[in-house]
Amino acid sequence: MSWQGIEGHDEVVEHFRHMLGCRRLASTYLFIGPAGIGKRTFAVELSRCLLCLETADESLAACGRCESCRLFAAGNHPDLHLIGLPQGKSSLAISLFVGDEQEPGLCHHLALRPFLSTRKIAVIDDADDLNPYSANSLLKTLEEPPDHSLLILIGTALGKQLPTVRSRAQIIRFRPLAKSLLSKLLLDKQIVAEEKDAARLAELSEGSLTRAQELARPELWEIRQAILEQLARPTWDLADTERMVQQFVQDSGKEASVRRDALRTVIGFVLAFYQALVRSQVGGSSVDEASLRQIVDLAHTTADSADLDLCLEKIDACLDALDQVDRNANQALVISHWLQALTTPVRSTA
Ligand SMILES: [Zn+2]
Repeated sequence: MSWQGIEGHDEVVEHFRHMLGCRRLASTYLFIGPAGIGKRTFAVELSRCLLCLETADESLAACGRCESCRLFAAGNHPDLHLIGLPQGKSSLAISLFVGDEQEPGLCHHLALRPFLSTRKIAVIDDADDLNPYSANSLLKTLEEPPDHSLLILIGTALGKQLPTVRSRAQIIRFRPLAKSLLSKLLLDKQIVAEEKDAARLAELSEGSLTRAQELARPELWEIRQAILEQLARPTWDLADTERMVQQFVQDSGKEASVRRDALRTVIGFVLAFYQALVRSQVGGSSVDEASLRQIVDLAHTTADSADLDLCLEKIDACLDALDQVDRNANQALVISHWLQALTTPVRSTA
């Protein structure tokens, strides 16, 4: 089933239909789920339906013809406010909410009466990146929401939300997209042409379309192959691998966030390799993806890779490195420490 062209979130659609049917729409929602699965698209589409002047709320449909739908399509609906992380910034600045000399902020806009529709809606994307000052500036709006306002915050994990927000919002969880749906979307959107490529990307992208799109870059697969081949060997050249990863991350783009994503992807490849290795050692499900299976089989022939504890340590090293990346640690240092941890077992001999 698809609602307004959005697939994979039928449960959330039904929830809203039900709540709207009994007039119990909350004033603040927090959409939680992995990046790249359509939470923002859903929030925007929900807003379009709720602002439409012709259709009933519970129908969750927009007419597409009224003044509201027309302005919405043109991207300048006076009762819709979209906020997200500005490019190159690492947090949502307080000025977005309280305004500055040039323009008033979101809190001011929400307090005004709607211009056209029956509500004013604010969609705050990247809520993971609200800083405490920004969240505090929202406090009054969250505690005493204007009658006509609807606030939708979007984040990737509940643990990343500030308590101020978490405790005052109704939480809606979005699930990762099913592999079969992801495969279909990759083909429909012509991100890949071949079914087998779509299946491979769907397998590796943890239910996220954005992630699958990132993984569709051919140079990613080259570096993945090069690194995994190294890891499957009994000994490998640390300096050489480090140079390769540093270069890849640098070449991926100028923006810090793009480089961070590239590094996260490379670490993810290695993590998936060790996870597959552990699964195969404990007799778990076989590895679906052919190139990874080959490397896992090869790794089995070396003594180190057959050591379960060592593999688990390496998984820890990857998770630590991902954590460092998320904390915006210096990328060159993260790469260096991470690869070091992969080569040297830290297990105590006691
Ligand atoms: Zn309409």
